[in-house]
Amino acid sequence: MSESVINMYSDTVTKPSPAMRQAMANAEVGDDMGGEDPTVNRLEAMAVELFGKEAAVFACSGTQSNQMGVRTHCIPGDELLIEERGHIANFEGGAPAAISGISCRTIRGRFGMLDVDDLIGKVRVDNQHLCVTKLLCLENTTNSGGGRVWPLEQLKRVCDWAHEAGLKTHLDGARFFNAVIASGVSPAEIAAGFDTVSICFSKGLGCPMGSILVGSTEQIHRARRIRKLMGGALRQAGIVAAAAIYALENNVERITEDHANAKAFAEALAGTDGVIIDPVDVESNLVFFSIDPDLGDAMQLSAALKERGVRIGGMGPQTLRACTHLDVNREQVLQAAEIVKDCIATGFAQYPKKPFGPFARA
Ligand SMILES: *Cc1c(COP(=O)(O)O)cnc(C)c1O
Repeated sequence: MSESVINMYSDTVTKPSPAMRQAMANAEVGDDMGGEDPTVNRLEAMAVELFGKEAAVFACSGTQSNQMGVRTHCIPGDELLIEERGHIANFEGGAPAAISGISCRTIRGRFGMLDVDDLIGKVRVDNQHLCVTKLLCLENTTNSGGGRVWPLEQLKRVCDWAHEAGLKTHLDGARFFNAVIASGVSPAEIAAGFDTVSICFSKGLGCPMGSILVGSTEQIHRARRIRKLMGGALRQAGIVAAAAIYALENNVERITEDHANAKAFAEALAGTDGVIIDPVDVESNLVFFSIDPDLGDAMQLSAALKERGVRIGGMGPQTLRACTHLDVNREQVLQAAEIVKDCIATGFAQYPKKPFGPFARA
C-alpha cells in the first residue's frame, strides 16, 4: 500500500515507529515461559501497578487475553452475558464455544453498553435444565457500539450488580486507554469493578502485537495455564513486550490527539446531504456514519474511497466506521473528510454492490 493512502480502516493498521523499533531492538530477553524474560516481567509489573490488580500476564492478542479471561471464570456448559454487539461474542471466531464450551447470552443494550435493568432476570436459577450463568463481559470503549465510553457510575453499578448476583466480571479493554483518556478516569478506577481486564497494545497504543490480562494472583495463575494450552506461552517475548512498555510510556497521553481528530473528521462531515452523523456521538477514536440508501450502500462508498486513497470500512449495510490513530494526522483526516464529501457529491452507485458482512474489507 502506498504511503499516500489515508488508512482509517482500523486503529490496528499502525506501524511501529523508529523509536519503538529501537526499544524492541534493545530489549533484554529471556525465556518467558520460565518467568525469565526481564522485559516481560517489567511490563507485567507495570500493569499490576497501573491497574491496581495483584497479577498480570502478557498475551499475543486481545482475542487471546479475552479468551484466557473467559476460560478462567467458566467451565464447559457455563454461560456468559454480553451486550449483543460485543467483540467476544461476535468477532472472536466463536472462541467461547470452540475453546471453552461456553455459550454467550447476548443482550440488547445501547451503544454496546448495558445497565442493570437490561440484566435483571438474566441470571439463570439453579435448575438441572439450565446452564450456569457465570460471567458478565463488558467492553470499554465499545467497538461496534460506536466508540462509546462508559460513564464510571454506570460501570460501577453494573459490576456491583453482577457481583451481588454471584457473577464474575471481565472487561474487554481492547481500547482501554481510549476510555482512560476520554473520561479522565484512572486505569485503576476503571478496572476496579472487574475480576479480569484485558487490554490491547496493537490498537491505539501503536504496537505490532501484544496484550495483557490483569486480575487476582489466583486468576492469573489459571490464565497462564490456559495461555499455554492455547499455544500462547512464549519464549523471548521481551522483544514485543518492549514495544508495549514504550507505548505505555509514550503513546497514552497522545491519544487525546486521536480523539480530537475523530471529532474534527465528524464535524467536517456533519451537515453533508446524504450523510447521517452527529459529532456529539463521537466520544473516542471511532467515527460511525451512515449514508442515504438512495446514494448507494456502505461497501460501494468504501470502494469509491479506496480508489481515491482513503480506507474506511463498512460496519453495516449503510454504515461506515472511520478510525483515528497515531498514523493519521489532522490534515489527513480533514483531507479524508473532503474526499468522502466529494464521493457523495459525484456519486458512487457505479461501484458493484456486494453482500455486506461485518468487517467486510474496505
Ligand atoms: C480489536 C479488538 C479485540 C482484539 O482483537 P484482536 O483481533 O485479537 O486484536 C478485542 N475486543 C475489541 C472490542 C476489539 O476491538
